Amino acid sequence: MTIAVLLSAIALAASSPAPSTETETGPSARIERDGNRWTVTFELDRDAAVWAFDHSAVQQNNRGPWRPGQWRVETPGVVLERAGHRDVLRATDGGPVPRQVRIAISPVPTAMEASYAPALLFSDGSVALHTEQYELFPLDDVEAAAALPPDLTGLDLPGGPVAMTWVDAAGPVLFQGLRQTAPVATDVNTYVLFGPLEASESPHLATVIDPALPDWIGRAIADTAPRYAAFYADRLGEGPEGRPAVMASWKAPPPGMTSMGGSVLPGLIAVAFEGEGVLEPSGGVADMFNWFIAHESVHFWLGHTVSYASGRDMWITEGGADLLALRAAQALDPAFDADAMLQSAVDDCAELADQPIHTAAARNENRAYYACGAVFGMLAEAAARERGGDAFTFVRGLIDANRDDGLLDGGEWLAELTRLSGDPSMAADMAVMLEAGTADPVAMIASLFQRAGVAHEVRDGRVVLL
Ligand SMILES: [Zn+2]
Repeated sequence: MTIAVLLSAIALAASSPAPSTETETGPSARIERDGNRWTVTFELDRDAAVWAFDHSAVQQNNRGPWRPGQWRVETPGVVLERAGHRDVLRATDGGPVPRQVRIAISPVPTAMEASYAPALLFSDGSVALHTEQYELFPLDDVEAAAALPPDLTGLDLPGGPVAMTWVDAAGPVLFQGLRQTAPVATDVNTYVLFGPLEASESPHLATVIDPALPDWIGRAIADTAPRYAAFYADRLGEGPEGRPAVMASWKAPPPGMTSMGGSVLPGLIAVAFEGEGVLEPSGGVADMFNWFIAHESVHFWLGHTVSYASGRDMWITEGGADLLALRAAQALDPAFDADAMLQSAVDDCAELADQPIHTAAARNENRAYYACGAVFGMLAEAAARERGGDAFTFVRGLIDANRDDGLLDGGEWLAELTRLSGDPSMAADMAVMLEAGTADPVAMIASLFQRAGVAHEVRDGRVVLL
């Protein structure tokens, strides 16, 4: 049996403001299910030649856009096409896009490259849609859309957030933990559940679990997620408000394949299981799941309580989440073997750090954020240990210092390392790796480990942890 770990998870920058029900200027969208027919109707608030979708990540299987295969524009004279890193709507006559555009959508399970799945499908017919996929903004022309970078965090985009209305002809939808008829919200990053599937509530966790998933997964979620949440709250301080939720979906199995993918949103971990291999807690699926919960739930702190302002700093949240999850797993499960995961972070960083880490996303090398971020985390951990702390005290200091604005950037992270280690040369070399890449990553990583006091040796051109 092949076990493909599809942890395409990311933590997005902005924490989610409270939903607004006030009338605001800006476009709106009505997302509606009527039996098997799904539509989204955009009401655009101004004339613009192009409307571009904020979230335009690519699929894992072909690294192409997902919307053209799932969305069909019904409004005459409007096309959906790709411009650079963005999906865009454009009028075929060169004029402004009509103020109302209707699109028929066909939600299907889609594994995304380092981004949220647009839809989670459940075996009872329930479907959860990711809200941010319906955010769009106006541009003057296709060239302007093509010139945009893949990640828009920190950019000042024209237009306001989209006011979204969620409607199911069959009854109320589940939105932010409550069944509601046609809820309206702007600027919310979550999944909206259409269909009969019920959430189950416990004091520390709400869960929405596909009825086709075996009991062990429900028990594992109920057991594992609160244990990690409690551990992180103890070590990292106050986390997000409210009770976290886990949404677990199931996809019909392709023969011989088992996978699990997911992501974390403010207050919500979404996980999609696939394949017959998850029916029994064997073959490493349970371990894979525990690791997934360990990594995703630390993002409630490192990713949502504080996050980066620019996607280039994703190494802070992804590498940091990997290292903290690994240390938490060691603390909670004495049998957990961290060595292989740490070594693969070192190996992968050595392979990828010949290019700038900051721009790894544009090269489809997201692994660099995780691997080199974990390597950097090991340096910080070693510096913190010299002062009686550990990886958690390092991150907790950064969280506490940045709670107010919720933003943590690479400069702040490196300055804290320098403060703890007293050695500015490490931060200087890491800045080179981030901004320019390094000609000899093995020598650079070995040198950084040497200075920080991370036990290692260089063997056959490879940095080997001891
Ligand atoms: Zn992550």
